[in-house]
Amino acid sequence: MTMTFSFKLLAQDTHSQARAGLIQTPHGEIPTPVFAPVGTQATVKTLTPADLAELGANLILSNTYHLYLRPGAELIAGFGGLHGFMQWPGPILTDSGGYQVFSLSGLRKIDEDGVTFRSHLDGSEHRFTPELSIAVQEQLGADIIMAFDECPPPNDYDYNIEALARTHRWAERCLVAQRRPDQALYGIVQGGIFADLRAKSAEFLAALEFPGYGIGGLSVGETKIQMHEMLEVIHPILPRDKPRYLMGVGSPEDLFEAVARGVDQFDCVLPTRIARNGAVFTESGRLNLRNAQFAQDKNPIEAGCHCYTCRTFSRGYLRHLIIAKEILGLRLTTLHNLHFILETMRRIRQTILDGSFAQYKDDFLAAYQPVPEANRQTLS
Ligand SMILES: [Zn+2]
Repeated sequence: MTMTFSFKLLAQDTHSQARAGLIQTPHGEIPTPVFAPVGTQATVKTLTPADLAELGANLILSNTYHLYLRPGAELIAGFGGLHGFMQWPGPILTDSGGYQVFSLSGLRKIDEDGVTFRSHLDGSEHRFTPELSIAVQEQLGADIIMAFDECPPPNDYDYNIEALARTHRWAERCLVAQRRPDQALYGIVQGGIFADLRAKSAEFLAALEFPGYGIGGLSVGETKIQMHEMLEVIHPILPRDKPRYLMGVGSPEDLFEAVARGVDQFDCVLPTRIARNGAVFTESGRLNLRNAQFAQDKNPIEAGCHCYTCRTFSRGYLRHLIIAKEILGLRLTTLHNLHFILETMRRIRQTILDGSFAQYKDDFLAAYQPVPEANRQTLS
């Protein structure tokens, strides 16, 4: 645990703002751009740490809100933190709990000092403050931790002014509260869909010299065009030599568009969640393996895919497992979808390094038929 956090920018695309870099953490290196699979309950559902290592995952996200409620951060600290508890030896990121608490509409109350909320599990009352969020994240022991912020509805200008001021005061309190020097605390840019507020937020947080920056409050119902605009506003303001993390994104098409606008880091439940519903990524778009047309299909999900699922099983067999609600079906579709996203990110990074990212982006997006939807993580 002697190695500290650092970020090195290795290449900058000439046709876009895309960047390739390398994050160093106490638990290993993270080549960027990077996609972090989500392990809400200290597990990426259906997979073992060995599976994740084989997929080439370099960063896993866990949720502070869920782990604070169950089994409790103190208990996890007793196992040596999340690394010892879940037996994942690589880099881990925890969110602040803010996003989940704020999505408990009707069950929470915000004031200057923090948020009082009721557990979605048993209705018990709890209170998060910036200080408590940092203390809990220090007990969980992730390599990257996040400032406690408010994620307001993106379209209400007056409310966003008020929430942003609070988020900035909370960011300063998080910095003061931090005790562990081996964790990198990221500040989070907010400001809804408003360019002036996003710029103000990026300027304020840049001056606080966080080691990295989250971009919050996007992929929460705004349009894709609005999301792209907000990324373009903050790109020149955030320090070049710090990683930028677009929280809760995304779909394959979103990854390309955000990387092209300077984002280095992502997480999203989408690949794992849709896998458990029988939906799988291919280079031409998404397939739903529940469809009857796949019943006798002897092809893999995608010809040429190197994942264990595609090397071994037919669409017809996978469809049977999903219809019969067999656990193996959930595992195999999850393996394929994470392989698809992680492999796409590896190719994105490689093409940034060799100067062909623009071509790869055009080719990918020309072939890929997106599905319109909200892909942000929720409490389900
Ligand atoms: Zn596959």
